[in-house]
Amino acid sequence: MDKISGLLQKDISRRKFLEIMGKIGLTSLTMGVINYQPRFAWGSFKVVPVAADNPSIVWHESKCKRCGKCVGACTGQTVLGYYNSSGGKIICTNCGQCVLRCTNSALTERDDTAKVWQALNNHDLHVVVQTSPASRVSLGEEFGLKAGTVVEGKQVTALKQLGFAAVFDTGFAADLTVMEEATELVQRLTGKLNKPLPQFTSCSPGWVKFCEHFYPDLLPHMSTCKSPQQMLGAVIKSYYAQKKGIDPAKIFTVSVMPCTAKKFECQRPEMNDAGLLAGKPGIKDMDAALTTRELARMIKQKNINFTKLGDSLYDSIFGEKSGAGLIFGSSGGVTEAAVRTAFYLLTNTRPPDQLLNFTEVRGLTGIKEAVVNIPGFGNLKVAVCQGLGNARKVLELIRSGQGSWHFVEFMACPGGCVGGGGQPKTTDNARTARATGLYNLDAASSKRLSYENQEVQKIYQEFFGFPMSDKAHQLLHTDYIARGL
Ligand code: SF4
Ligand code: SF4
Repeated sequence: MDKISGLLQKDISRRKFLEIMGKIGLTSLTMGVINYQPRFAWGSFKVVPVAADNPSIVWHESKCKRCGKCVGACTGQTVLGYYNSSGGKIICTNCGQCVLRCTNSALTERDDTAKVWQALNNHDLHVVVQTSPASRVSLGEEFGLKAGTVVEGKQVTALKQLGFAAVFDTGFAADLTVMEEATELVQRLTGKLNKPLPQFTSCSPGWVKFCEHFYPDLLPHMSTCKSPQQMLGAVIKSYYAQKKGIDPAKIFTVSVMPCTAKKFECQRPEMNDAGLLAGKPGIKDMDAALTTRELARMIKQKNINFTKLGDSLYDSIFGEKSGAGLIFGSSGGVTEAAVRTAFYLLTNTRPPDQLLNFTEVRGLTGIKEAVVNIPGFGNLKVAVCQGLGNARKVLELIRSGQGSWHFVEFMACPGGCVGGGGQPKTTDNARTARATGLYNLDAASSKRLSYENQEVQKIYQEFFGFPMSDKAHQLLHTDYIARGL
């Protein structure tokens, strides 16, 4: 396993790869791995093709120098060059890595700030916002603070000053996701759920779209859990709306995300489950997703002196999070959080300290593997991939029947959400500093296990009953689309 991982982590030529594989006697794996080489010419592209109606990114032709840096980003993600683009066909995962690479502002996120200002100025609407784990360790960079500086409380204060009626923590929804995703994993492991292993994570919308296009045959592996953003949107417009006595049609939901693909995810037609529950299918669970950069622009437009702000607390009933919910923002964090709770579900005992500091799945290595011994179950094998190029390598192995993992985490962006396409433009060092900020928050948390989150316990008691219940399926789970090439 280690040798295979070592090979996967390197970009090597076909000839060199065959040499190495021959030496270690793993020729049966070669076809699966080599298939990730580009199949279609991409050398003629000077700029990534961007559709005019792309919900996540925009190309500003007049600013473009045709430098090709964005093409490098997209081919590194194994998107451009991996489908037949002749005839003007465009496939985009909405990951935004090309935007991060462009130094001329010729590629940007699609700006949704005007839409959010309009909602905030509409006094008929109850406008609420959720903030991702990752933006609290990167937003400060837009105001001159060091990468990784925790600005959680300042961010809440700024959002209140912008006029949001309530500020919720996506970390709460990450804990809710862990409850559902770990339960789903245990049901697959024990045969209660007739779905294949390994179970794939499903919280990175760029990764989900990549799988829908390039590996639709593997979609049964994908967890049916919605992402935390979408879970929270669905419970805001159902459980919260009921408790507050507000018509869900009058609630406008905004998120602050490190991610450009979240804009696409909001618009997926099937993300209207709270509306369906209320008999109003036209209501979307989430109305707008802002990147970290867009929130910084709104704070500047309002002339808020961000670095001088005091701290405020998130609002209940979605304000509590465990440390496990927060590390979702870093590559390996979803795995670490899910394994902690899966251990508890399988053994009914608290996970050992090793799983509270699960270093094997942390860090910027492209593909990571670990084995966890769970009493009464045996060895649970996990893998963690960051960046879609690494995802392709692992998917080729799985498609060819190789790899014996039970759980695989996929994140579209290098470093996971901390390196998302909507983050302040940055370097590898910033990604590491941001991840360290999240792991420090986890280590300092009084609760480090998602099932200890009392607001999560309450929503199960009052609303869902238990993880994977019919109602949980209705609001917290989804289906995928085999989009193909
Ligand atoms: S990186 Fe920016 S400037 Fe360079 S080709 Fe791409 S869009 Fe144009
Ligand atoms: S958003 Fe991602 S997939 Fe789309 S063009 Fe940019 S790098 Fe390629």
